[in-house]
Amino acid sequence: MPIKLDNIDIALLELLIQDGRKSFNQLAREIKTSAPTVKARYDRLVSAGLIRAVSVDLDVGKLEAKTGKRLEHLRGNVVKRHNVKIGKGMIINLSCDYCKGQVSGKPHILKFGTLERFFCCTSCKSLYEEKYRSRINSLK
Ligand SMILES: [Zn+2]
Repeated sequence: MPIKLDNIDIALLELLIQDGRKSFNQLAREIKTSAPTVKARYDRLVSAGLIRAVSVDLDVGKLEAKTGKRLEHLRGNVVKRHNVKIGKGMIINLSCDYCKGQVSGKPHILKFGTLERFFCCTSCKSLYEEKYRSRINSLK
């Protein structure tokens, strides 16, 4: 089974979409869980490729005309709103971190440091481990 979103994941995503500047401690207080839990969930959502970036929503109206031209260009490209309603039990589609194929069954997970990597099968997992052995060991 791929990664399923639970209430903590959803609360975390909603808070980050509203304001990505909050610290893990602050998020933990608002979700009523511990900071290490929030950090672990955040890292997992990043590893799974759901959180691509925590972006900045600028009020371009507050800027002076001098820089307006450049920011007008930015506004069109960067500031996008999420229209998707995130719900409990939603599934994150994973792609294998070795062969890039879709992970259809239960992902094979490799953890090192705060990172998690997801694989479609045991052979992709071991090939990846072999390829990045020194890097993985340095983060363990
Ligand atoms: Zn694979």
